[in-house]
Amino acid sequence: MSDEPIPLARPVVGEAEERAVIEVLRSGQLSLGPRVDEFERSFARRLGAGHASAVSSGTAGLHLALRAAGVGEGDEVVTSPFSFVASANACLYERARPVFADIDPRTLNLDPQAAAAAVTDRTAAILPVHIFGYPADLPAFEALGLPIVEDACEALGAVHADGVRVGARGHLAVFGFYANKQLTTGEGGMVTMADPALKERIDSERNQGRAPDMGWLDHDRLGFNYRLGDVACAIGLAQLDRLDAMLADRARVASWYREALDDVEGLDLPCEDRGGERRGWFVFVVQVPVDGPSRDEIVARLRERGVQSKPYLPAIHLMSLYRERFGHREGELPVCEAVAARSLALPFFPAMAESQVARVARALRDALGR
Ligand SMILES: *Cc1c(COP(=O)(O)O)cnc(C)c1O
Repeated sequence: MSDEPIPLARPVVGEAEERAVIEVLRSGQLSLGPRVDEFERSFARRLGAGHASAVSSGTAGLHLALRAAGVGEGDEVVTSPFSFVASANACLYERARPVFADIDPRTLNLDPQAAAAAVTDRTAAILPVHIFGYPADLPAFEALGLPIVEDACEALGAVHADGVRVGARGHLAVFGFYANKQLTTGEGGMVTMADPALKERIDSERNQGRAPDMGWLDHDRLGFNYRLGDVACAIGLAQLDRLDAMLADRARVASWYREALDDVEGLDLPCEDRGGERRGWFVFVVQVPVDGPSRDEIVARLRERGVQSKPYLPAIHLMSLYRERFGHREGELPVCEAVAARSLALPFFPAMAESQVARVARALRDALGR
């Protein structure tokens, strides 16, 4: 058995992506070219979303989506504390306040009841996160009657209980294409939406606020440079062609992990799909046993065996920026804090072999002493 280190993540890129990149380079049009529109249309079609706008990152997409939802200075945005920090940071860009509500212990997504209880007359939007690719309970959030921006950056391929794909409910939904995501363009992102007026606004604001007719010097609103270039969009188109295969590979790796780790006492695995909801597999995150070795100790023991792992994710409200700015303290969001203290991401990528999963599982059992 090989002892080569097993990385946390590894993208699937090959000849199709190489050809696509070379074609764009030879075309001489590296930005604001035809690949952007093609990628947007193909992505929207793949999801069943009305429209899509390509942007330079998931974070940029969250920023523009919050602006498009009407979030501004002094507004509150009810969101999950168990997320990558980008979802909360995007609120701060607009001087809005992220109001964290606790998570559901099974799905690890924003708990609809806790979210409803956090709504005030200053709440401008709800920002649910489909964490680890498990679909958030959108019907429950829709019942609150507020604008919704979905952080779908980890959830490409996920499906809601009613059969609608994540990103196709008509709200602003944001995807990310960083190198560890289900689909990568190196860096990049996409915002999907039903309303063409919202697409027009986002297309303008990602491009310095230029008028939709592309009038060269007319900027009728404030904008940013959040464009995605044609090389990235060409890679994205090639990735879309292999998306079904990559998602199936991820699901298979997850099922190997489940078989290999199901009987480890005290170890909690990612929740299984329920009631027609389908996870779009992104990471394989376990909750380490409360009565075993510390998580840091486990990470160190895995590293000795050539297995990468990472505490994932930390609670956002307990990060120093958020503690200092909003006075958050331990104990405020007990479910999130307990989960964040035990979460450990294991190596997980489409090309992972069953023998590698077995090696990780053996190393983890040894590290736990069970
Ligand atoms: C990846 C990710 C983002 C966006 O990340 P970028 O690096 O800006 O593309 C946002 N939210 C979550 C939950 C993510 O996992």
